[in-house]
Amino acid sequence: MSENLVSRTGETITSEDETQLLDAVRRWLDRDVSDKVLAMEHADEYPHEMVEQMKELGLFGATIGQEYGGLGLPASTYAKIVTAVSEVWMSLSGIFNSHLIMSAAVERFGTEDQRRKFLPRFAAGEIRGGLALTEPNCGTDLQAIRMRAVRDGDDYVINGTKTWISNGIEGSCYALLVKTDPEAQPRHRGMSLFIAEKGPGFTVSRKLEKLGYKGIDSAELIFDDYRIPADCLIGGEEGRGFHHAVGGLELGRINVAARGVGIANAALREATAYSQVRETMGKPICQHQAIQLKLGDMATRCEAARLLVESAARAYDKGERCDMEAGMAKLFASEAALENSTECMRIHGGYGYSKEFHVERYYRDAPLMCIGEGTNEMQRIIIARQLIERNPV
Ligand SMILES: Cc1cc2nc3c(=O)[nH]c(=O)nc-3n(C[C@H](O)[C@H](O)[C@H](O)COP(=O)(O)OP(=O)(O)OC[C@H]3O[C@@H](n4cnc5c(N)ncnc54)[C@H](O)[C@@H]3O)c2cc1C
Repeated sequence: MSENLVSRTGETITSEDETQLLDAVRRWLDRDVSDKVLAMEHADEYPHEMVEQMKELGLFGATIGQEYGGLGLPASTYAKIVTAVSEVWMSLSGIFNSHLIMSAAVERFGTEDQRRKFLPRFAAGEIRGGLALTEPNCGTDLQAIRMRAVRDGDDYVINGTKTWISNGIEGSCYALLVKTDPEAQPRHRGMSLFIAEKGPGFTVSRKLEKLGYKGIDSAELIFDDYRIPADCLIGGEEGRGFHHAVGGLELGRINVAARGVGIANAALREATAYSQVRETMGKPICQHQAIQLKLGDMATRCEAARLLVESAARAYDKGERCDMEAGMAKLFASEAALENSTECMRIHGGYGYSKEFHVERYYRDAPLMCIGEGTNEMQRIIIARQLIERNPV
């Protein structure tokens, strides 16, 4: 029976719509992606053609409201798409995810003029980009950023450096966190978020080389007297930037958790298949109890991680505060990805270490899930703080 799935902004899709959308994404992954992943991963090649296909599927507008040209999907459906994509090539999900977190900042906190100006072009994938928060001196402690925006007539002039910015080279627009009042106390009151398009004074200084997460570009961005109109200040009011930036992280964490489920599932799938065809001591290795113990733990982690993601996404869709739920999902699913990818490699023996197979990629991609959108150390702290706040004595 068809069930209605409702997004945080009240938009509805049916469970049949969800099934059709997931089928379309899986067909695309089978037809146009899976055979190309190994070569593109090892060449660290940006997937231009796949980006065009993602535009056609509507992925750049997945969570943007329908009135602005997006699909208006609930987080629960979006998370399933992210998991499906990450089961095949996790890097692809980064191309539309940080773009959608930037879009969510404009949709949730921007003025109506900003929404009308940017969201339809974001949804079509005509303008793509991401979130520019981290600086060389700080990632976790975002209130320590040094990037400075100074008002000058109808503009602001921005100076400083951002690093590790996903889509920094191929994208053209970023939600940019700056200090408008470096003396403010508490520090977050002096922070503002701009929607910044590339232009004079905004340069990409270098592409950052990484262990994994290949194909997608990570870059350092330099702002040298970059001039931006004051009407690009999200929400039109200084001092709200920290709140706007962390407001997007709940959805970001659900997304990273969904990516973790994708990697954990892929590792389980490969391990289950390989263990039935590889024989030692006259029988398939899946008949050795040592391998069965690994498979049992791997499958349980996948199921538990999926359920935590679903539960956090449902809380998000209902508009509930869900930093604890999103934190638990992110923590557990990313650690599940790390453990499953390691076990998958062990089960594959020497072949797990070969670049001719996918297994070594899971092992390189999984640790990023423990770092991005707030490290797992910070997730534990967030969970504990919420636990205490919700259970006062
Ligand atoms: C591939 C990749 C893509 C990225 N994409 C983006 C992007 O698109 N946009 C963006 O803005 N950033 C991006 N980042 C940056 C990422 O968000 C940061 O790396 C992350 O937030 C951690 O910050 P940091 O690296 O400065 O580590 P630090 O903050 O220096 O932390 C170092 C260690 O100290 C621990 N720690 C820090 N503070 C505490 C505390 N109070 N209590 C306990 N432990 C603590 C951390 O958990 C960590 O183990 C990306 C990073 C990578 C690697």
